[in-house]
Formats: sequence, C-alpha cells, structure tokens
Amino acid sequence: MIELPDVERMIDAFAGYATGKTVSEVLIDDPETTEIDPELCETRVKGHAIDTIGRHGRFVVVRFRSDVSLVFHMGSDGKIFLESQTTPPDEHSKIRLQFAAGRELRYSSPDAEGEIHLVDGEDFTGLGTLENLGLDPLSEELTTGRFIELARTKPRSTLKGILMNQEIVAGIGNEYADEICFQAGYRPDLKVKDVTDDQLLRVHKYLRRVLRRATLHWQAAHADPGWLINRRERGSACPRCTSALKSMKLGGRRTYLCPRCQRAA
Ligand SMILES: [Zn+2]
Repeated sequence: MIELPDVERMIDAFAGYATGKTVSEVLIDDPETTEIDPELCETRVKGHAIDTIGRHGRFVVVRFRSDVSLVFHMGSDGKIFLESQTTPPDEHSKIRLQFAAGRELRYSSPDAEGEIHLVDGEDFTGLGTLENLGLDPLSEELTTGRFIELARTKPRSTLKGILMNQEIVAGIGNEYADEICFQAGYRPDLKVKDVTDDQLLRVHKYLRRVLRRATLHWQAAHADPGWLINRRERGSACPRCTSALKSMKLGGRRTYLCPRCQRAA
C-alpha cells in the first residue's frame, strides 16, 4: 500500500526534472478515471510549464504556472514516474504528460482508487478526502500540542485509528501506523481515552521519527532489522525481543504487534 514515504520517494525521482518544464502534449490512456475537462486541459495545461510539485498526504499535486493543478490520488498501488516516450505504456496507464525532450511523466494505477483531477488554482472543493485532509505529519503545523488536541477529539478511537484517520493526519497507512506504535512501544489497539498526554506525546515523537527516516532513508529503513515493517509475515519474530509477533484485524486491516514490547497502557 502506498503511504507518505513512498509518495515522497516517487516525487523525489521526477520533481527535479519536471519542475519548470513545459508540457507539450497530454495523452489520456484511461478516460474513465481521468476526470479532466478537455477544454481546461487544452488551454491551461498544454503548452504551459510546471510551477511546483507537491504532496498532500498521499496526493501528488502538480501545479502549473497557468494556475491550474493536476491532482493525482495514488490509491493503494499507484505510481507516477518519468519514462521515455518510446517505451510503450503499461496496461494500467491513466495519463501521460509529454515534454519536448522525449521524456514523459506517467501516472499508472491498477486499482479503481486511483484518480486524477484538474482543478483551478488549488481549489480542492468536492475532491472528497483531499478537501477534508488533515495535517501533514511532517509539517511544522502538526506540533505535539496540536496532535494531542486532535487525538482527544476521538476518545473512543484506537491509537492506530488516530494515526490512520486521514482527516487528522494525512498520509499514514496500515504499515507505518503499525511501525509507529511498535517504535513508540504501545499496543495499536489502545483506546485514546485510556492513554495519558505524555503517552500521546511519545506517539507524536515516533510518528515524526519513523516517517522522517522512511522518507529520507527509505532503503535503509526497509532493510533495518529493528523495524517491524520488514517482519510483516505470519510466524515472524519480534525484531527486539524475538518472541512471536501477534497479528490481528484492527479497523478491518491486518495489524502486527509484539505483545511483550508493546504495552497495553
Ligand atoms: Zn518484542
């Protein structure tokens, strides 16, 4: 599943090349999931330069100097990447933005969750999740105080539920939510009403630490023997105490935890 660090990694790979470049042609491979007004695309995207490339949670926002934004919802398995125009697109290709130099920016998504929108400025009204998206976990806005305050609005939620609630913090999915709970040393199924502010402070600290590390050093994090994310299999041993990890369903998602290392309160 695509989570914030994965989106950051994708953006890093193409933003340096694509920022400032003019899009010469737009090829739509899948008109059904590409909600783009053809006229707006013709007049404000084609022939216009990309101004900035940003991320809001798991959305990628490509903003043009003509003051429109292409918004890509990464779904659970979408990808956005640079490719040569001579390479045939894959079967899940949705849209391709071509540059004069022979390369193109491709967006491909095998599942129905992946969406593309073209909006005026950065007007996300009506775009469901994006419109009500919570704070970015790596932004300065998500201070410890703010995080605690937001968590307290959902006393009956579990810690994992808070981390995955896109209207509270944007971009954390199933695997990183488990990792944050593991690194902080708390069970993911702890209820917010049963934890102290000091414990929430610790969750916030590890939320930052885990996501920052995964964003800056993705490969190292995904090879770290001390990380739970690399042990998500039935029968795996805890990276810390080597006792058997427990797996359970929480909020409909497969959850891994160590009953010894992760405290119940
Ligand atoms: Zn353990």
